[in-house]
Amino acid sequence: MRYSTVLFDLDHTLFDTHASEAAAFDATMRSADLDSSSEILATYDRINQALWRRVEGGEFSPNDIKVRRFEEFLAEVGADGDPVAMAEAFVAGLAENGELYSDSLATLEALSPACRLALITNGLGSVQRGRLRRLGLEERFEAVSISGELGMSKPGREIFDHTLTELGVDDRSGVVMVGDSLASDIRGGSNAGIQTVWFNPNGLPNTTDVEPTHEVRGLDELFSVVG
Ligand SMILES: [Mg+2]
Repeated sequence: MRYSTVLFDLDHTLFDTHASEAAAFDATMRSADLDSSSEILATYDRINQALWRRVEGGEFSPNDIKVRRFEEFLAEVGADGDPVAMAEAFVAGLAENGELYSDSLATLEALSPACRLALITNGLGSVQRGRLRRLGLEERFEAVSISGELGMSKPGREIFDHTLTELGVDDRSGVVMVGDSLASDIRGGSNAGIQTVWFNPNGLPNTTDVEPTHEVRGLDELFSVVG
């Protein structure tokens, strides 16, 4: 095998985060007696993504943005609501909703006899733990690193160092990070001195200065990259 240790991202790589967020957002809006629509969800998405970029930049921790995203959202749409209650409903909904992509489990099963598998995810501890338990994913990884639990986030190298220390991996030449985000997964892997696979299902152009080692359109291509 070219790589003996494979580090996976969760959101938008193995897990259908878009569906999870849409269902959680719907439930949150219902609980706050507010109308939802795809436009309103898009507004929330924009605010949320901008805040996560500030987490990636080190300005906020994941926990800082839990309520803040609903404060900003309510201000922007000009609605009355309790951002704390909405944040709680949303976090519960994120853990309870969403499934793995159809080929995620088969990919992990194909790799696991030959490779050590770990997960490195930027997210809230309660959300990601809830999803991993519900989907039976925790036991499929030798190490699970969640930024909200550890106080370190991709693309910083610390969360990679922490994970590789937990695995007892010293030689990084056999380690590869797989993820959809150039800003967190690919830059993070590069910061940590490991190889990277950009999971790019929509064939987006790379407009950044970071170069993935490999690029795949589907998880089914991963076995030939790793093997
Ligand atoms: Mg991702």
